[in-house]
Amino acid sequence: MADPDARFEALLAKFRERDHRITPQRLALLRLLAASEGHPSASQIHEQLHAQFPTMSLATVYKTLNLLKEMGEILELGFGDDDNRYDANEPFPHPHLICIRCHKIIDPEVPEYRALAHEVAATSGFRVVSHRLDFYGICPDCQRLEAG
Ligand code: ZN
Ligand code: MN
Repeated sequence: MADPDARFEALLAKFRERDHRITPQRLALLRLLAASEGHPSASQIHEQLHAQFPTMSLATVYKTLNLLKEMGEILELGFGDDDNRYDANEPFPHPHLICIRCHKIIDPEVPEYRALAHEVAATSGFRVVSHRLDFYGICPDCQRLEAG
């Protein structure tokens, strides 16, 4: 994963470039996203910031997430429910490992993936705008729990 501090500075610079308001809430949200490895949902982000900003609403969280989405700085992973998950570490589409027990989402190391995505675009003649590769399974932690 990218250096969280560098990623935070990069996200902040994008907001400044576009004259978006920088509030303490927004700063905390960007910091959390830049350092997050677990692909949090909006409600998880809201919950995590609640102690620090008790009056911050879920709508405020969505507003910042939507700005990041418009800027192409965040990956939104939808699963057909209302709880989309977000990845601001690496905005280029990449594969994900999804645990069907605890619902954690992990970034596997697949160095060839970027080259594969470019090759598919080149050989198909498609102007590819997005792509997605999800592996569903049971994570090592949940396997240990099952084994007792
Ligand atoms: Zn799990
Ligand atoms: Mn990811």
